[in-house]
Amino acid sequence: MSKTYNPFETAQAQFDRIASLLDLDKPTRDLLRYPMREYHFSIPVHMDDGIVQIFRGFRVQHNSARGPGKGGIRFHPLETIDTVRALAMWMTWKCAVVDIPLGGSKGGVVCDPHNLSIREIEQLCRGWVRQISRDVGPTLDVPAPDVMTNPQDMLWMLDEFEVIHGGKFPGFITGKPLSIGGSQGRKEATGYGVVFSVREALKEINIKPENTTTSVQGFGNVAQYAIDLIQRIGSRVVCVSSWNQTEKMAYSYRKSSGIRLDELQAITDAFGGIDKTKARELGYELLPGDAWLEEDVDILVPAALENQITKDNASALSKRVKIIAEGANGPTTPEADVILDERGIFTIPDFLCNAGGVTCSYFEQVQSNMNYYWDKDEVLGKLDTKMTAAFHAVRDVAKRRKIHMRDAAYLISVSRVAQACKDRGWV
Ligand code: NAD
Repeated sequence: MSKTYNPFETAQAQFDRIASLLDLDKPTRDLLRYPMREYHFSIPVHMDDGIVQIFRGFRVQHNSARGPGKGGIRFHPLETIDTVRALAMWMTWKCAVVDIPLGGSKGGVVCDPHNLSIREIEQLCRGWVRQISRDVGPTLDVPAPDVMTNPQDMLWMLDEFEVIHGGKFPGFITGKPLSIGGSQGRKEATGYGVVFSVREALKEINIKPENTTTSVQGFGNVAQYAIDLIQRIGSRVVCVSSWNQTEKMAYSYRKSSGIRLDELQAITDAFGGIDKTKARELGYELLPGDAWLEEDVDILVPAALENQITKDNASALSKRVKIIAEGANGPTTPEADVILDERGIFTIPDFLCNAGGVTCSYFEQVQSNMNYYWDKDEVLGKLDTKMTAAFHAVRDVAKRRKIHMRDAAYLISVSRVAQACKDRGWV
């Protein structure tokens, strides 16, 4: 039987490589290889049909040496504790690489929101907070949305937290609706951040964006805003893929002349699923789910889930591919990484490439704690500055040490976090 993919093993393998490169001492390695704390809990929900259903929830706090934990909450039927552990660890490195004063956490619930009513989702959000409210908070650990959670969910969670703690704590959670404590630019931030990195990578390899084509996996929050900005800087997006909930499989949608974002958005559900029949009527070619990866394009943007580019499909990439911008967390396995590296593909690693989301979440937290909100240009301007600086810091290390971007980003992050643990006298 083939071994199932375990993202935490990937995250630990990536860390071990860097720990050796940095020659980290044993206590620091032992500390950083595992989360500092994790919580497993049960969330009872009174379903609409009168039956009580128990959902499994998690919060993992990987490291808080540089500041309060930060990380999203994912609602997914295949959620596992090892996925949450991996994502929490990646959050630690992500906050460190963009140099924001936050640690790494992640949460999740094993559930499928497609099959839940609005009222049931509200109960689940409130129930999640009830179980963990003592161990999260504006100075401890600050959650945010992730796959299949949204601003409304964050507001229910905030409301529950404020009821329990008896006060107003808008800095408890980020990704809130704009009307109640959200930040301008948050919904665009991750996708735009991906494109700020792509823009800088294109300059490095001396290619003009208007001479490029792009293929994207996913059509959710990250993908849609990445497509928006990459088209505006001139790249032609020829293919996107998304999950079809009815058939429980993914499809790719191709239009060689360039996809139109607004027309696809109009036929997409709240979870980023594109309506297959309507897409065909609009002239999109319908292809298998993994066809996005085999497109003859310059830029690939995996922006759906982890474990998508593997040793089994890495060789199917077109020779034309020059940049892989990892919008999703953990889309490339370590074995695939070796193949991409040998082919000279410029990979912008996930925890650098998609750090725009957490950077803007940090801006939201700062604004919420001050109770003073900035305008959109100010937020996006600050985001561009942070992302561009982080990209070049990583690029400089990569060039200086003749290593690829992922290792360089890890070297920066792990050494910053290890130093903070040492400075605090933990190790
Ligand atoms: P989302 O739920 O809004 O969208 C996910 C998209 O992926 C949907 O379009 C869905 O149809 C598609 N999808 C799911 N399985 C697929 C498959 N097998 N093939 C093709 N498409 C598939 O999620 P999101 O917020 O856009 O997050 C996407 C990725 O980016 C995740 O890995 C997430 O952890 C990461 N991320 C998100 C943010 C953020 O701010 N939203 C920040 C950093 C990283």
